[in-house]
Amino acid sequence: MKNTDRKKIALLSSRNPKSEAVSKELWNKLKDANFIMTPKNPDIVISIGGDGMLLSAFHKYENILDKVRFVGVHTGHLGFYTDYRNFEIDELVENLKLDTGAKVSYPILNVKIRMIDGRVVTARALNEATIKRLSKTMVADIHINGVPFERFRGDGIAVSTPTGSTAYNKSLGGAVLHPTIEALQIAEVASLNNRVYRTLGSSIVVPKKDKIIIDPQHDDRYSIAIDNRTFVYDNIEQIDYQIDNHKINFVATPRHTSFWNRVKDAFIGEVE
Ligand code: NAP
Ligand code: MN
Repeated sequence: MKNTDRKKIALLSSRNPKSEAVSKELWNKLKDANFIMTPKNPDIVISIGGDGMLLSAFHKYENILDKVRFVGVHTGHLGFYTDYRNFEIDELVENLKLDTGAKVSYPILNVKIRMIDGRVVTARALNEATIKRLSKTMVADIHINGVPFERFRGDGIAVSTPTGSTAYNKSLGGAVLHPTIEALQIAEVASLNNRVYRTLGSSIVVPKKDKIIIDPQHDDRYSIAIDNRTFVYDNIEQIDYQIDNHKINFVATPRHTSFWNRVKDAFIGEVE
């Protein structure tokens, strides 16, 4: 193999003895297989841990999404973003040697937090963005594709990607969405519904072309959780949500498990 043909691989591991041991073993095996092991500008990022670790890996490399492909190795049960279990790393090394660059891509969420002073903070989420008010009931106007849809009162609102639909969204009663459906899902967190206040109540699946805007009451503090990180703002004007122009790419391996198998494995288990 010429030096320029050698693929660069970054390894990221969660901080526990099991993941670190798997990471060390995998690092040695990939090095022996003539891959360049480096965290800088990698072609392939391998995350070792769980889905939470893959979320961290995504955010570390979110600025080079078009160039990079991810592989998830799970040291516990099979996850949603993880194709390999810790005892399958020999198979992973063999598949990477045969890799032709094929990928599986999923939509991600683009969030624009617009501040009252005109500043705009842009973030990307792989699972979801959740806004909550820090004190008292959150009051926010929700607009969908230019339609002033409802005035929400409750704890908060989560906007999820298709692959994030099995995470917090599912706990909120949202639907599980196959990741080939390019859509976002709005799920309510404990909405107030009585004779005075009204929201739709069910979660809403919004197509790619429709922009979602959440306009929370001004002059209060809100937390915005982007996947596994939470930020606090006290001067939000409104938040815009759309499917991002970029996608997350995974290495397409023969092991890439069917989405329905993952859902079954995670939530149902064996059926007699
Ligand atoms: P965490 O609280 O340590 O873990 C949350 C759990 O969600 C973990 O078991 C994780 O799997 C799993 N998970 C992550 N992404 C998933 C996906 N796309 N589909 C199904 N399960 C998924 O937090 P974390 O590991 O930093 O992950 C942050 C995520 O936690 C957020 O994006 C949000 O979706 C989720 N969350 C859920 C709730 C809830 O259900 N009530 C509340 C807050 C946050 P692993 O064990 O494989 O890492
Ligand atoms: Mn506003």
